[in-house]
Amino acid sequence: MASPARVDLDGNPIKAMTICMIGAGGFIGSHLCEKLMAETLHKVFAVDVYSDKIKHLLEPSTLPWADRIQFHRINIKHDSRLEGLIKMADLTINLAAICTPADYNTRPLDTIYSNFIDALPVVKYCSENNKRLIHFSTCEVYGKTIGSFLPTDHPLRQDPDFYVLKEDVSPCIFGSIEKQRWSYACAKQLIERLIYAEGAENGLEFTIVRPFNWIGPRMDFIPGIDGPSEGVPRVLACFSNVSTITAITPTSILVMHFFTNNLNVPTPDPLRLQNLLRGEPLKLVDGGQSQRTFIYIKDAIEAVFLMIENPARANGQIFNVGNPNNEVTVKQLAEMMTEVYSKVSGEPTLEVPTVDVSSKEFYGEGYDDSDKRIPDMTIINKQLGWNPKTSLWDLLESTLTYQHRTYAEAIKQATAKPVAS
Ligand code: NAD
Ligand code: UDP
Repeated sequence: MASPARVDLDGNPIKAMTICMIGAGGFIGSHLCEKLMAETLHKVFAVDVYSDKIKHLLEPSTLPWADRIQFHRINIKHDSRLEGLIKMADLTINLAAICTPADYNTRPLDTIYSNFIDALPVVKYCSENNKRLIHFSTCEVYGKTIGSFLPTDHPLRQDPDFYVLKEDVSPCIFGSIEKQRWSYACAKQLIERLIYAEGAENGLEFTIVRPFNWIGPRMDFIPGIDGPSEGVPRVLACFSNVSTITAITPTSILVMHFFTNNLNVPTPDPLRLQNLLRGEPLKLVDGGQSQRTFIYIKDAIEAVFLMIENPARANGQIFNVGNPNNEVTVKQLAEMMTEVYSKVSGEPTLEVPTVDVSSKEFYGEGYDDSDKRIPDMTIINKQLGWNPKTSLWDLLESTLTYQHRTYAEAIKQATAKPVAS
């Protein structure tokens, strides 16, 4: 239960505040809202076009935090109510974005509008009304590492100066304009620069967050189940969909739920599932050799909490938020997910059918990739004393175990229902 006597990192009592959270209905927003409701007395104006992932926080009206969260179905592209909400709030957190790589080269205009143009009024309203802003950017603003331009066997590739990504030192290295993959990173970089300039010239109090592959329940969608059949989500949901499902069994349906909203999502219709089970092998783009560091959503949310409640330490800062210890290649991630799922479900390990696909085939013309993403943790450590805790194995295990238990209970309830005559 929320304790009114909570203190910040400097020992000062934390006052209850009102937060205007834009994109609250998404993956990160849903986890942030959950924790804000369960552990604090802060109020949230939850702004989004969708509310499915936070439905469990909005209904029923008897929930203990019911008077502290309000959902506003607003498309920030064109809604005059936004400024009013920002004015009424103490802090605005902007999470709204198109942020799935499959869109960057195929819908570059939507991507640029969403990540730059649509964020402009938010920055302007915060600046004009002297309101604090926490803006979600991305680790992708770093682009490629310096080391990626060296020959593969060059010894300097092993030197951290050539690959560790530092907020105040590393350059932002994108591909050429026809590599439209970088439309997202470039739009995010420009909005970062604009926010930074508003801080420098007009005194805007801001914090910029650069997430490094945050993962956990409710991430993205499973194509054809709770998202478009032809959609391509981020890698975890892609792998959940094709690598671990081999038949229509209770456990395969469970995996469909892996990154969905568990109990709040109705059991999928098996006929729709059959359409998904194309028997396609797991696709490793360009051999799955790109490297990523993955962080558990719950660790990352702790960092955001510290930013929210320690403005004096967070204002004017750009923070990497990731887990440098959880680095794998995409191929290793595929192998680990299969192994963890087998342990959690008690089913024998399946022979993972993987196939290499070219990025052109998978994402289309104009795709390009970040080679390696290791966040430097110096700034966030110094300012907020924060460190990630959860290993990749543990975060996959706890997420899958939770989902497995949740789904098993849902199955039991469904099968216990009397059949209608
Ligand atoms: P998400 O897609 O799950 O959430 C984004 C939410 O914004 C969605 O619910 C969407 O409906 C909403 N939204 C988009 N456009 C909107 C509009 N015009 N009006 C109202 N709502 C709108 O994504 P997420 O993973 O939660 O990411 C949140 C932020 O963090 C994004 O800015 C993203 O670029 C950034 N980010 C996330 C990661 C990660 O690892 N998850 C990595 C890098 C950057
Ligand atoms: N990827 C893959 N197979 C898939 C989906 C993604 O090999 O089915 C790769 C993708 O090319 C990238 C990595 O996995 O190298 C991470 O992709 P994600 O969509 O999570 O986003 P990113 O980390 O690139 O922002």
